[in-house]
Amino acid sequence: MSKKLAALTLTLITCLCTGCAVNPITGRQRLMLISEEQDIAIGRKYAPQIEKQMGGKIPNPAIQHYIDTVGQNIASVSHNPTLQYHFAALNHNSVNAFALPGGYVFITKGMLEKLQTEAQLAGILAHELVHVVARHSSEVISRQIGVNILLSAVTADEAPQAVTRVTNLTRQIISLKYSREHEQQADLAGLDYMVRAGYDPHAMIEAMQILQSQPDSVSIDFFSTHPTPQNRIAYLTEKIQTRYRNLPPLRTARQDYQNAILNQLHNY
Ligand SMILES: [Zn+2]
Repeated sequence: MSKKLAALTLTLITCLCTGCAVNPITGRQRLMLISEEQDIAIGRKYAPQIEKQMGGKIPNPAIQHYIDTVGQNIASVSHNPTLQYHFAALNHNSVNAFALPGGYVFITKGMLEKLQTEAQLAGILAHELVHVVARHSSEVISRQIGVNILLSAVTADEAPQAVTRVTNLTRQIISLKYSREHEQQADLAGLDYMVRAGYDPHAMIEAMQILQSQPDSVSIDFFSTHPTPQNRIAYLTEKIQTRYRNLPPLRTARQDYQNAILNQLHNY
């Protein structure tokens, strides 16, 4: 091997090793160009931007507290319970739920209005939490936007051009598309999180069916069309019937959701 080639190989190996991270969901190694500290820095920088672009937080502390309680309960049984998680309900009529790197999970008023039980809410938050825990958004961001662009904007000043740049990047982050494999992991591991947190796993399927029946609502993430909704419902049903066939009755909490969300959503 020539000296030059040896040096190149060594650089490549070093690079691969420093960028390796295990996906806690699959147990497999994958190349990760963003560190967990950078995940948190990105989330911290872009979360307020996203809130601003999506109508701000719903100005009702009781609603925020309820969403946070359900979310933290699921986060505590996830593969990464020590990360600091932030859940927020946004004052936006679109039907959406999405996650940012570093522990930030959002759900919109439009989606909250469509759901009927706390367990369905738990299903959606669990799906988004898997994207955070498995660091799917970090993977997609590094491929579709570029780590350097994102991180330089994180440290950028408040000059008008810098602000516009961050606004544009925020739009790109909101519209990121996860892979089919990511969505399947989020659905199936999300189902495990629901059960561990004491929720009826059928509610994940119910949430999908409710959203599917809304003709004009296309969610950014949770109601992703890849895999197709039929496919997602099929593999979730199969997992419930095989792995969770003998569960005792678990929590659905229809009345709690009615009281905490549906009766409160227009009370502010
Ligand atoms: Zn997803």
